[in-house]
Amino acid sequence: MASGPGGWPGKRAAATGSSPVLLPAPAGRTAPKGADFLVVGAGIAGAVAARALAEAGLRVTVIARGTGASHAPVAVVNPVRAKRGRPVPEAGAALEAAARLYRRYVPLRFGLTHRVPPEARPGWRARLAESGLPHRWRGDALLLPTAFWLRPRRLLAGLLAGLPRVRARVVFLEPGGVWLDDGRFLAGAVVWAGGAEGAGVLPGGRLTAGSLLLVAEPGDGRIAGVFHAGGAVGGSYRPLVRFSEPTPTAGELAELRAAARALMGRPPTVLGAWSAVRYRRAVPLEEIPGGFLFSGFGSTGFLMAPLWARRLLARI
Ligand SMILES: Cc1cc2nc3c(=O)[nH]c(=O)nc-3n(C[C@H](O)[C@H](O)[C@H](O)COP(=O)(O)OP(=O)(O)OC[C@H]3O[C@@H](n4cnc5c(N)ncnc54)[C@H](O)[C@@H]3O)c2cc1C
Repeated sequence: MASGPGGWPGKRAAATGSSPVLLPAPAGRTAPKGADFLVVGAGIAGAVAARALAEAGLRVTVIARGTGASHAPVAVVNPVRAKRGRPVPEAGAALEAAARLYRRYVPLRFGLTHRVPPEARPGWRARLAESGLPHRWRGDALLLPTAFWLRPRRLLAGLLAGLPRVRARVVFLEPGGVWLDDGRFLAGAVVWAGGAEGAGVLPGGRLTAGSLLLVAEPGDGRIAGVFHAGGAVGGSYRPLVRFSEPTPTAGELAELRAAARALMGRPPTVLGAWSAVRYRRAVPLEEIPGGFLFSGFGSTGFLMAPLWARRLLARI
């Protein structure tokens, strides 16, 4: 991997603390064929992409500083939207790809249960039957035996283990490589997996902050609008205009407490809260000059990233 100064010395300071800027190609520099891959971002999208590229025999370096939305204490890999009972597109294939990859690194707690109000059941039944997703009805509850929850931090550590890692922030992105906040240029083809913090690379997409309540009571994967799994209850949704480090509002915490109480049948023992920002794009895989954007998974990063990583590999 080559490094060294390029032709952009004066531009570094301008971008510090803001989203990285996608620069036009300087004359004569394009992503070299057979180049190293630079995966920017070490959340679930970056970790899954980097693992897939490495296992395909490609040389990969992961660049990231900070954490991001994937560092939640618990994530549900839930293929059915809790508000309307609508399975996400390709739910079965996505679950299969996620389970096949993740079971190598962490225990998967199979079986998520949605509590469905009586007036909503006919619609849910029809949509579930149409989707072909394995499911069973038990009283007022919809059981999804192939859906699961897991501990993301252990999963990320497993996916990233053994891969070269640079702890830095990318401040500029250009066809052929990236500029880091320490002044270095790393050459390679880029896979941009920057999530919400890196949302400025392409226009479009939607940012939504949200929180989980951390509780003493362990949950078993029950969902009634929000989920209770492990020691977490969540999540809340708060639209954001631009990325900033989120903190939960008093209203969000009150809403989550009420939801936890409804799920558990008694007031929860609250230990704390965890907040992050989601980033949704219509399509999470797009070509950009010198590489690919692999980002914008919204609320379903843990479900969809492994399936979309297969598509990323197919396009490389
Ligand atoms: C409250 C809440 C609850 C959620 N619950 C679930 C759930 O149960 N199940 C589920 O599937 N999803 C859930 N999600 C959504 C899920 O967290 C996201 O879909 C997923 O984390 C997105 O992963 P990502 O890798 O794209 O982004 P991120 O996890 O945000 O990772 C992006 C990475 O890129 C790095 N980065 C960004 N810009 C730069 C730069 N310029 N230079 C270097 N590094 C950079 C960041 O530091 C970070 O490491 C939840 C989200 C929230 C907020």
